[in-house]
Amino acid sequence: MTWPPRFLFLSNRASIDFAQTGGEGKWAKWERWHEPTDLRDWFRESSLALELDTARPADVVAARQLRAAIWNAAQATLRGRKLPAKSVTELRARAARPDLVPDLRGDERAWAPGATVRQALSSIARDAIDLFGSAVRERLRECENPSCPLLFVDTSRPGKRAWCTMARCGNLQKTSRYRANLKAATPSRRR
Ligand SMILES: [Zn+2]
Repeated sequence: MTWPPRFLFLSNRASIDFAQTGGEGKWAKWERWHEPTDLRDWFRESSLALELDTARPADVVAARQLRAAIWNAAQATLRGRKLPAKSVTELRARAARPDLVPDLRGDERAWAPGATVRQALSSIARDAIDLFGSAVRERLRECENPSCPLLFVDTSRPGKRAWCTMARCGNLQKTSRYRANLKAATPSRRR
C-alpha cells in the first residue's frame, strides 16, 4: 500500500478522521478535499458510510473550516490548553444546525434519504463536541513517531496505543530500534 492512502480512517473517531484530510500551510500538500466529489467520497468511505446526493463548492469551504476548528481544538487538548475560542464558535455554530437523521434499512443502520453536507457537518461537529467536552479527550493521542502528526482516540482497554498504525509507524519504530541495537552491537571498524 502506498502511504498515506487517499483517506485515513484510523482514529476511531469520525471527527478526528475528518480533521486528518489536509489543511492550511504545511498541511496543504496533504489536501484531500479539492472538489465536492472528494467530500462525497470521504463521507461514503468514512465510518458514517453516508451517501450524499450532492455537494457544492461552498460545502468544501465549510468542511475545511470545520476541519481547521477540530484540528486546532485537538492540538490544544493534546497540550492541555484551553480550546481556542474560534474553534468553539465554529463547533457550536455547526452543531446547532440539524444533523443527519438515522434510519433503519432492514436491521442495518442507515441515513434518511436526501441527507445534505450541512447535516453531515453538524453530525461531525457534534461528534467533536462529545469528544472535547468529555473525559474521552484524555484518550486523544498523537502518534509516538516524532515525524508523524496523526491523531487517534485510544480505545484500547489499557490505553497504551502508541502508533497511528502498527503497520506504518509501529513497524518503522521497531525497525529503527532494531537498527540502533545492531549499531550498538557492532564495533565500529577502524583502520
Ligand atoms: Zn504514525
